[in-house]
Amino acid sequence: MHDYQTFLHHKLIIIGAGASGLMAAVTARDLGIDTAILEGNDRIGKKIAMTGDGRCNITNDSTMTGTDDEVVALSSQYHSSQAKFPLPVLQQFGIRQTIDFFNMLGLPLTKLKEGLMYPMSLQAASVLDIFELALEERNVPVYLNNKVLDVTVSTDHPRFKITCRNETEEQQIVYTSEYLFICTGGLTGQNAGTDGSGYALAQNMGHAMVEPVPAIVQLKVQYPYMKALSGIKLQGRAHILVNGEIVRSETGEIHFADYGFSGPPILQLSRIAAVHLSKGDSVTVSVDLMPSRTKEEVIEFLEMNWGTFATPGRGILRRIFTQEAGPCPAERGRNRSRAKPTLPGSLVENERDLL
Ligand SMILES: Cc1cc2nc3c(=O)[nH]c(=O)nc-3n(C[C@H](O)[C@H](O)[C@H](O)COP(=O)(O)OP(=O)(O)OC[C@H]3O[C@@H](n4cnc5c(N)ncnc54)[C@H](O)[C@@H]3O)c2cc1C
Repeated sequence: MHDYQTFLHHKLIIIGAGASGLMAAVTARDLGIDTAILEGNDRIGKKIAMTGDGRCNITNDSTMTGTDDEVVALSSQYHSSQAKFPLPVLQQFGIRQTIDFFNMLGLPLTKLKEGLMYPMSLQAASVLDIFELALEERNVPVYLNNKVLDVTVSTDHPRFKITCRNETEEQQIVYTSEYLFICTGGLTGQNAGTDGSGYALAQNMGHAMVEPVPAIVQLKVQYPYMKALSGIKLQGRAHILVNGEIVRSETGEIHFADYGFSGPPILQLSRIAAVHLSKGDSVTVSVDLMPSRTKEEVIEFLEMNWGTFATPGRGILRRIFTQEAGPCPAERGRNRSRAKPTLPGSLVENERDLL
């Protein structure tokens, strides 16, 4: 039971004080718009605090774009079913603008390996501090503990009526606004407040919904030797095969775990695997640990080192090798047409909420 209702009005209301809501609020206020944020949690940016291993990887300047062609090339690297979506976004606000935005707030960035940029303190908490300061300086109210339950749209003014539940004060609060941004994130990290309620709010307002699938996650596989291989990290090339055909490949450090695979290339591939799994396709991950060598070079290498690798019963790698590669080609009349050995695994499940 709610004791009473309070009404508050702002020209622009932003639902969600995550990365997108906070940036939108600062930008809108700097354009002179009366802006407020409604946040279900008791503090802003709970997910930001978890990012980049607690350091918050803000951007990557190795992909910095200058020319139009470079922006087009960069936009093609984004994973999206809406292939045309990233380009106009990056044309308006690219990596340079991201760095400038944080400098403008007073948060200098530092670069670690491979162009990865973090706050100079290497603390995600600094990002939250700087946003808190920026909102305070600009008099942008942030209504915490305000979980939005419902939004109604009217043709009259004000156009939006937003009903919230305030847990701490056990009351319903109704906000009204002329403009509304839904910045409620996805479904990843539900303990950070992203419980998918934003999807329902958008749907109730008539927006079409694309069924979400996990992305940037590990891949769980059915492969008998995963437990034994767990802990190994190797540079390699991973492929996703759908119904037996390679649909995407990525190179980088592949991590072997008891459940399956992780590491940057796997995280990159996980979305495409999840999309096909959700359609009921047969999805396999194949890992090439000698991507720089041709099939012939690998076979030659294996034949030369057969005694080292294929002696049965001496170590897990040897056991796997004997199982996967079969008898020595010499014993099979040096049949050079066989495929380059890889470690295959049928995907059984994807995990969400893990990076
Ligand atoms: C473990 C991990 C590490 C990551 N590392 C990085 C990284 O290093 N670099 C990087 O760029 N990205 C990283 N990401 C991704 C990044 O966190 C997200 O892309 C980003 O947080 C999305 O921002 P958002 O504003 O859309 O949503 P969120 O940051 O999820 O914010 C949404 C906000 O909306 C609030 N909310 C939701 N529903 C309601 C409601 N009904 N009423 C009121 N409030 C509501 C939530 O409480 C939340 O505060 C990482 C993600 C995870 C999970």
